[in-house]
Amino acid sequence: MNKQDFNEGLLGFLDASPTPFHATRNMSMMFENAGFIKLLEEQKWELEEGKKYFVTRNDSSIIAFTYPKAKNYTMVGAHTDSPNLKLKPNPMIKEHGVVKFGVESYGGLLLNPWFDRDLSLAGRVSYLDSSDKIKDVLIDVKKAIAIIPSLAIHLDDKANKERTVNKQTDMCPVLTTNDDFEFDEFLKWQLSKVDVLDVKELYASELSFYDTQKASYVGLHDDFIASARVDNLLSCYVGMLSICSVDVEKPMLFIASDHEEVGSESTSGAGGSFLENTLKRMFNNYDEYMQMIRTSIMISADNAHAIHPNYPTKHDSNHAPHINKGCVIKVNANQRYASNSKTISRFMKVASSLNEPLQHFVTRSDMGCGSTIGPITASRLGIETLDVGLPTFAMHSIRELCGSDDALSLYKIIVGFE
Ligand code: ZN
Repeated sequence: MNKQDFNEGLLGFLDASPTPFHATRNMSMMFENAGFIKLLEEQKWELEEGKKYFVTRNDSSIIAFTYPKAKNYTMVGAHTDSPNLKLKPNPMIKEHGVVKFGVESYGGLLLNPWFDRDLSLAGRVSYLDSSDKIKDVLIDVKKAIAIIPSLAIHLDDKANKERTVNKQTDMCPVLTTNDDFEFDEFLKWQLSKVDVLDVKELYASELSFYDTQKASYVGLHDDFIASARVDNLLSCYVGMLSICSVDVEKPMLFIASDHEEVGSESTSGAGGSFLENTLKRMFNNYDEYMQMIRTSIMISADNAHAIHPNYPTKHDSNHAPHINKGCVIKVNANQRYASNSKTISRFMKVASSLNEPLQHFVTRSDMGCGSTIGPITASRLGIETLDVGLPTFAMHSIRELCGSDDALSLYKIIVGFE
């Protein structure tokens, strides 16, 4: 695959996936097109060797796997969620001449970049139809329907020195000056746009705001890719393409979990039972299952902080990844990352055989270290794990920045993994 096709597909995936629900639906479609058979957790599974399968949970997490005779799996893990502003159940606030929405912040988002952006809304809506069945549908408004205006500097002369952001009072997106606006009517109109007309009652929704600015190349030589949700749809894209590219005789599994940004503890998060439940159904008995666990490896792929050219002291200078210099192996003595010398060595051997560059990241010893799905999966399953990631600036901003060379490099290493 050439770099241009690879990156064009990435830009399209980022734009088409404003929420974990949409990312999961897009990956499902990709897997169906690539010949994966859809499994439902609530039905009996009769797996056949030589075929490949996928299954989703909560419409927001997905597992795809090949099912060959050999069972020493190369697994790739990523997450579908990104920090955002999530609509409250009773969102409407009508005051001071406008209608605005109350929101909760989801995950550790950088708040300031959300001001003065053209925002849209997407997610899942559950409703009752005329036959008294509860149904769900995904919506994506697509149009910019809201904005969080900054407070002018004239009204706050300390704005550039000491302005702080209050999540409850300062972050409400403004929708309209028309105070006839009704939220339920707005939702019903959005449902009608996806051909859902039979709505007896609206029950609940999980909707998030997102930036309508499209993913794009930035830089003199298209050096960078700027987009929302680079963390971690970038790794979802790499994992998805990797498992679609490998031969069905190669044991490979890809999992993209929801709720990483809020600690992974949920039915569809990496701390939940989804992966373990799925793996156990792939084997006839516990002994076969445990043999698979102990001969397989999990490559947990999540973004890595590149050294910021304006804030270089935030990195340990010997472990400071650069953008477009290759995938990053993440290490932490306190097991915030699950990499160990054995799993690192296996990854390095493959990368070196393909002439793909690698970099190393260790957080400064006087700073706290983030974590990811790697250690959670390692401790839940007892599987050997490696934490890697692609170098990124502005992680958890509304617009993050990664390199245009690095994702393809990780894809090659994963596809070539032995
Ligand atoms: Zn992440």
